[in-house]
Amino acid sequence: MGKVLEVKDLKISFKTFFGEVEAVRGISFDVGKRETVAIVGESGCGKSVTANSIMQLLPMPPAFFKGGEILFNGENLLDKTEKEMKEIRGNQISMVFQDPMTSLNPTMKIGDQIVEGLREHRKLTQKEAEQKAIEMLDLVAVPQPEKRIHQYPHEFSGGMRQRVMIALAMVSTPQLLIADEPTTALDVTVQAQILELMKTLQDRLDMSIILITHDLGVVADMSDRVIVMYAGQIVEQGTVDDIFYRPGHPYTRRLLASVPHPNLSKDEPLQAIEGSPPDLYVPPKGCAFYDRCDRAMKICKDHMPEFISHGDSHCSRCWLHHPMAKQVQDLGKEGA
Ligand code: SF4
Repeated sequence: MGKVLEVKDLKISFKTFFGEVEAVRGISFDVGKRETVAIVGESGCGKSVTANSIMQLLPMPPAFFKGGEILFNGENLLDKTEKEMKEIRGNQISMVFQDPMTSLNPTMKIGDQIVEGLREHRKLTQKEAEQKAIEMLDLVAVPQPEKRIHQYPHEFSGGMRQRVMIALAMVSTPQLLIADEPTTALDVTVQAQILELMKTLQDRLDMSIILITHDLGVVADMSDRVIVMYAGQIVEQGTVDDIFYRPGHPYTRRLLASVPHPNLSKDEPLQAIEGSPPDLYVPPKGCAFYDRCDRAMKICKDHMPEFISHGDSHCSRCWLHHPMAKQVQDLGKEGA
């Protein structure tokens, strides 16, 4: 499978009044053609910053790139001018956000917003663009598209607005769609319909998808591969089966254990992950999960674990998997 996107050792910080926040600390991953890669993790782990950095939608300043590359079809997006990025954003990479109300113009009819997008990217007359707008709404299964193009965003339900957002993202038939929590604001039935729609469009348009979410149910449904982020780093990546059936990192295991499942009895509490991630003003020298990890060892506190491979596409960043782990493990957290 050819690679559409390769992120290499990406580092992003924010300058704030109190100092520098190291939001993304040297992450590397790739996305293949027609592949769906999910990025999961708690709020503040750096997943949305990563997504926005690919589109170069981060506010600069306070954000700035400290290092690394974002290669899209082999070209480093960090070397592009704003004009070149505008071209790429419009035509080759699109993004769908969590809340369509903040992305749609409330004062403009839905049809006019799609027509505007179409005419920006394709050489179409007004009439052709209007016809295409109807087809786009039909493509994302908005009923009665001829009538609905004349309505405003507030006349659409949450699910229908998200369909419109997807239609807008598809205007340019992008090679890569970045969906940042696309179904978080929707109820479960509508969520399933939107995910199904994204899968259908992916097949039809040969598109790759990066799915940013904290919802592991959505991940299981949609993704080929999963990247788990914690405190600005990738701590594990693998196929959906690797992550769900053979998780290697204690954080991934705790994340999976915190999800409600059908066999959970009503008296059984959900296993929340106690504590909070470290302060990224002063990132830890060692493993960022140390303070919350029930398997932490002395070495974890001061020494950053390297990635250890568990197979072709599966790796995690944890001292437990080091070949010497048995001896290291004996030191125990008490010895710290
Ligand atoms: Fe826990 Fe140590 Fe592994 Fe970090 S490196 S997750 S502290 S066992």
